[in-house]
Amino acid sequence: MMLGLLLARAGVDVVVLEKHADFLRDFRGDTIHPSTLEVLHELDLLDEFLKLPHQKAYGLAVYIGNTAVPFADFSHLPTQCKFIAFIPQWDFLNFLGQQAAHYPGFHLRMRADAIDVIEESGRVAGLRAQTPNGLLEIRANLVVAADGRSSILREKAGLEVRDLGAPMDVLWFRLSRRPDDPEQSMGRFAAAQIFIMISRGEYWQCGYVIPKGSIEQIRAGGIEAFRANITTIAPFIGDRVAELRDWNNLSLLTVRVDRLQQWYREGLLCIGDAAHAMSPVGGVGINLAIQDAVAAANLLAEALRTKQLTIDHLRDVQRRRELPTRITQRFQVAIQNRIISRVLKRGGILKPPLFIRMLARFPVLRRIPARLVGMGIRPEHVTAAAESNRSHQVTASPRY
Ligand SMILES: Cc1cc2nc3c(=O)[nH]c(=O)nc-3n(C[C@H](O)[C@H](O)[C@H](O)COP(=O)(O)OP(=O)(O)OC[C@H]3O[C@@H](n4cnc5c(N)ncnc54)[C@H](O)[C@@H]3O)c2cc1C
Repeated sequence: MMLGLLLARAGVDVVVLEKHADFLRDFRGDTIHPSTLEVLHELDLLDEFLKLPHQKAYGLAVYIGNTAVPFADFSHLPTQCKFIAFIPQWDFLNFLGQQAAHYPGFHLRMRADAIDVIEESGRVAGLRAQTPNGLLEIRANLVVAADGRSSILREKAGLEVRDLGAPMDVLWFRLSRRPDDPEQSMGRFAAAQIFIMISRGEYWQCGYVIPKGSIEQIRAGGIEAFRANITTIAPFIGDRVAELRDWNNLSLLTVRVDRLQQWYREGLLCIGDAAHAMSPVGGVGINLAIQDAVAAANLLAEALRTKQLTIDHLRDVQRRRELPTRITQRFQVAIQNRIISRVLKRGGILKPPLFIRMLARFPVLRRIPARLVGMGIRPEHVTAAAESNRSHQVTASPRY
């Protein structure tokens, strides 16, 4: 959606396909980081965006047992917004869709499920999608696979994936929120348990981290035992765990961390999770996908507009984004292996690791994780190459 908006804004004709009828999917978190808010500011969309209901987090803390340990402080970032905005993904995507619809080159096709690439003379020349009206074939100078961590397009294009491993999956569910609950979203760590709570105003979006492959064992223990675990780790929510009537109230989200060796082929480029599936650790995946979109627009808009796109342009996108991706994934895998795996295996009293204790003790150190999480490595900015072509702007109402 972000790349569609940027390219349409730069005068390129774009069709964005979404397989579902709407964006009301619960398979990703809600964190819009300062880096993404900066991009919205550069696009002159920030004020409008911040009118949407959202929660601001100026810092992040984890609970180890019942003790809150602050570990990131965004207040010193050199960005317009010194906070993370928690906003449901469907609101964010609808917002981008509404803004993009102002450009005549932007076309959004909902319920269009990409099922294959069209190959001609060894290059990708378009794609096929299943729609309620039958098979749709779209020919294009470039197909961008932004279809997430189960990307069908990268598979059909035969791109090689390197699996980096993830020791956990996440059980995802909602519990109602009360006015006297804690304000902020939070991560709670206790012996053999990790519990994430994201405030969405009237309810908590909850993520309960489980060892990969353990879902059947957890189900076998019964829903009562599961409710009791939640109450142990977050006692204030104990009076509402009965809202989890049965396992149908929970969805299992599979965590995957992987990366393509090569993110492109002639006529095709993968970005976001399709190029590099991100772990939920740090809540950075959405923001990294946005950074990919900005880099791709900067590097490709002119070549697409003038129909001079070559494989070198696509290689440039991978070159630009590979280092930030590798560093971020390395950091995620280290946290998964050194902290998450150990916490999930270990019973008894949990002791915060040294670096968390240092962050708690020396507030100035909290600026380091704030920068890594909030801005990421090599933050992208909308450049003149992807600048607005105002003559293309019209005031049409959204087309979906
Ligand atoms: C449990 C969990 C929690 C997470 N929490 C956070 C968080 O709090 N913050 C954060 O930044 N990241 C989080 N992440 C990571 C984040 O979800 C991903 O990195 C991010 O969503 C990637 O964005 P994307 O646009 O590449 O892919 P996606 O967000 O997966 O979007 C892909 C889109 O393509 C559509 N699609 C898929 N296949 C097709 C098809 N064949 N045809 C047409 N459309 C298709 C999908 O419906 C979807 O709308 C979390 C991940 C997990 C597993």
